[in-house]
Amino acid sequence: MKVFKFGGASVNSVERVKNVGEILKQFSGEKLLIVISAMGKTTNALEKVVQAFYDGKKEEALQLFEQVKQQHLTTARYLLVTRYLACEEQLRDFFTEVEWLMHDKPVREYDYYYDQVVCIGELFSTAIVSQYLNEIGINNNWTDVRDIIRTDDNFRDANIDWEFTLAKVHRSIIPLFDEADIVLTQGFIGATDENESTTLGREGSDYSAAVFANMLDAESQTIWKDVESVMNADPRQFPDAQPIHELNYNEVIEMAYYGAQVIHPKTIKPLQNKGIPLYVKCFLNPDLEGTVIHSRSLKYLPPIIVLKENQVMLEMSSKDFSFVGEHHVGHLYHLFEKLKVKPNLTQNGAISFLCVMDDRTERIEKLALEASVLFDVQVTKGLLLLTIRHYNEDILRNMIKETSILLRQQTPETIQVLMKK
Ligand code: ASP
Ligand code: MG
Repeated sequence: MKVFKFGGASVNSVERVKNVGEILKQFSGEKLLIVISAMGKTTNALEKVVQAFYDGKKEEALQLFEQVKQQHLTTARYLLVTRYLACEEQLRDFFTEVEWLMHDKPVREYDYYYDQVVCIGELFSTAIVSQYLNEIGINNNWTDVRDIIRTDDNFRDANIDWEFTLAKVHRSIIPLFDEADIVLTQGFIGATDENESTTLGREGSDYSAAVFANMLDAESQTIWKDVESVMNADPRQFPDAQPIHELNYNEVIEMAYYGAQVIHPKTIKPLQNKGIPLYVKCFLNPDLEGTVIHSRSLKYLPPIIVLKENQVMLEMSSKDFSFVGEHHVGHLYHLFEKLKVKPNLTQNGAISFLCVMDDRTERIEKLALEASVLFDVQVTKGLLLLTIRHYNEDILRNMIKETSILLRQQTPETIQVLMKK
């Protein structure tokens, strides 16, 4: 058994859905569990629906939702002939689910409504793709993953009840493979024991796929993306970024930690625990080699570059020239936790503590204000944080020219440089 994940970009048009069908033809006869995201930018569009509803603008919310509905009905109409009506009926049930909810004024917390509305994107896309595949002879069973993945009620960042979900996978998913080779379901969403919908955090579909791969003891997981493979840098920032065809779990976790947007960081653990390889493949050209991520150690890795823009440095100096000790640092970390900011780099000196963070202006202002009770705080904005794993002096020199360096930290493996253009 293999687990496939198709992201939003792989199903964002009629042609792309057809392309998924073409890819799957190459795997005929194999057992596949397929996880699919919402089409294109649907999740963002649904976020706007919830926001309007929660702001008390019911008409606007319904109107925005109407647009999302029409887009999906149109896609279904172009894709389907014999199964159009069945698909429309399925979609209408989901429409009703959301419209009923928005009928009343919001009385619960925002995150609850967010999950009830936003989860519909994945239900729409999978319903359409499943009907299309069945229509062209790629038999599959569609499943509402909310009956399988049980979570707590930490809406928008729900935690999976591993034991319950595993039992459900055995009882309800495995038998479906006796009927058809493919089980097709949603990423990113789940439900509580009270049948309330939940979501697992933005971009969470990779993680859903990994949970299934783990529970089904899959031979592999494949993430189908619009890039040729994992790259050693973001090609939008570095046009001569190179593909990396082989990585291991630890390296991917390190890359994610330093801010590379490769794979949802939660994805790795469920795979690593069972030694299941993860493939990243290009849905635009499945013949390309892509990337394999496994547990073995690798002798050679190219320099991996992560450049974070829009960084802010806070320099906090003790007011009375006393050393910055555990008490001060402890207090700061409490503030970080409370304000939900995460330092990307820190350095402790005798009378000052430096930290570098993403510039979320509102939170940074709060942090600076609260920290100013204990410290003199100085804020510097508009900085760049460069991280290079497996660096060498040549590449470093090349990357830091024409910048001034404010801070530099290094281990034998990783160097981080805070720069100003
Ligand atoms: N549709 C969700 C999102 O856009 C989940 C995912 O794509 O992984 O965040
Ligand atoms: Mg996505």
